[in-house]
Amino acid sequence: MNYILQKRNYPLVKMNYEIIPRTTTFSLEKLENKQLNSKETIDINITYFLDKEKIIPIGKQRKIKLFHLGNYNCNSCTKVVKKLFDGFCFPCFKYKACADKCIMSPHLCHYMNGTCREPTWGDEYCYQPHYVYLSYTDKFKVGITRESQIPTRWIDQGATSAVLLAKVSSRNQAGILEHKLKEIIHDKSHWINMLKSGNEKPSISLFYETYTKISQWIKSNSLLELDEYKAKLPTHLKLKNEITLFENPTILNIEYPFPEQINKFQSINLEKNNTFEEEIMGIKGQYLMFKNHVFNVRRHEGFLVDFSIT
Ligand SMILES: [Zn+2]
Repeated sequence: MNYILQKRNYPLVKMNYEIIPRTTTFSLEKLENKQLNSKETIDINITYFLDKEKIIPIGKQRKIKLFHLGNYNCNSCTKVVKKLFDGFCFPCFKYKACADKCIMSPHLCHYMNGTCREPTWGDEYCYQPHYVYLSYTDKFKVGITRESQIPTRWIDQGATSAVLLAKVSSRNQAGILEHKLKEIIHDKSHWINMLKSGNEKPSISLFYETYTKISQWIKSNSLLELDEYKAKLPTHLKLKNEITLFENPTILNIEYPFPEQINKFQSINLEKNNTFEEEIMGIKGQYLMFKNHVFNVRRHEGFLVDFSIT
């Protein structure tokens, strides 16, 4: 057997990617488009890597084999455990701020009530610039992300296009705005529909139309002037409370190494069947598409596996 890669007792991690610009190079400044006033879109292709060695198993009839050894690595403290709770060992799940419910629902952040599980972690992770965005996955949806996670956040969710709506000073503020926007737009995608749609994206005019509708709704409801935003920053961090609604942001278009037509979407669950080997057809978001199955890398983060690529 000709192994391209062989790993033993390897904790599955989120895939790495590299951006290949198709038109102009990617930058946050271009996305914000504050001064530039350009009408162009930014178009990029994505190449994925399963590990640091940067092996590309796509388009070459590579076979991936996974064998789950039954143990897991906690995604926070990396301790080896027999069971994960939402990706964490039980103590981390119980006491770490990164495992708290406000991570999934940032509008419920309770830092300012003095009840953050780890305030110093919160200072660093939650009190930094965040963006509220509009993206297209299987449909238009809104979401939030830290500045440093652009465009990672969109690539991880398999968005084919995205645009920035607003910039705020904390995770909580972004969460509050996102939560309000749920009244008029989705905040979740459906993975099968997302994969089914391949690299399909809405037209630029439809994207801007949807964007303008949301932006107008924010303005007409004075959503950025709410008192909820004002008292939300801890004084010791001396942050400037900055809330910006973008007027003319640039659309980012993302193409994935993903086949046009796929009909089978049976998902792999390494907890039920501990081994799996199949030829890989494409990758979108954190989903590996095999001939007959889909593997959600995110759902298996921390699983200890033997894995090989042939
Ligand atoms: Zn842990």
